[in-house]
Amino acid sequence: MLELRQVHKTYATPQGPLRVLEDVSLRLAAGESLALMGESGSGKSTLLHLAAGLDLPDQGTITLEGQNVASLPEPARAKLRREQLGLVFQQFHLVPSLTVIDNLRLQARLAKRDDADWASYLIERLGLTGLEKRYPEQLSGGQQQRLAIGRALAPRPALLLADEPTGNLDETSAGEVLDLLLSLVHETQCALLVVTHSRQVAAPLDRCLSLRLGHLLDTVL
Ligand code: ADP
Ligand code: MG
Repeated sequence: MLELRQVHKTYATPQGPLRVLEDVSLRLAAGESLALMGESGSGKSTLLHLAAGLDLPDQGTITLEGQNVASLPEPARAKLRREQLGLVFQQFHLVPSLTVIDNLRLQARLAKRDDADWASYLIERLGLTGLEKRYPEQLSGGQQQRLAIGRALAPRPALLLADEPTGNLDETSAGEVLDLLLSLVHETQCALLVVTHSRQVAAPLDRCLSLRLGHLLDTVL
């Protein structure tokens, strides 16, 4: 499903090269869930961006559903992302000019699965029934993130990548968003890689790894 092999990533900074990932290898099987922890600045978002093909490694290979992400030209990478990946970020990244239902449909249509039943089922599962015609700014943070999760899962991707999905929410909304995320991931048999600071988020997942000084370590919670 997803495999990183001996991945290295260094950023050029005014202070000189900053080595963020050194010889990182990781495999995620279909349907498996993995938490990625580590201190702020340890390279978690960098790893997620590389896994999504949003950035390229200096060395090493990244394979998603059998395709070597780094060797694909950008249009093919974008297609792979669209068809195989759902992305959820800490800042919800909804389209502000589109209503709830259109934010959801946008993604489903991109994947050519404009299935009205599936969209209305999702709206109900997201707890957004009756709010279909609202705009993102008219929703609470928790509602926006639930919508972002629904949008990411609408095309039924093979893998969901989530970067601190509850990082911007209060404890109650974070709990609701986490429950929704886990139950929808389970229901759609999607694999999950979630970056988080929270043990509460990491605990129910199959495995937990931490980034430390550029290396990945197995972590027992
Ligand atoms: P985390 O998500 O674990 O907080 P990041 O992957 O965002 O960590 O960042 C890891 C390190 O790389 C940090 O020191 C950060 O400042 C630096 N960094 C991230 N992106 C860039 C970039 N585009 N250019 C230069 N440095 C970056
Ligand atoms: Mg980060």
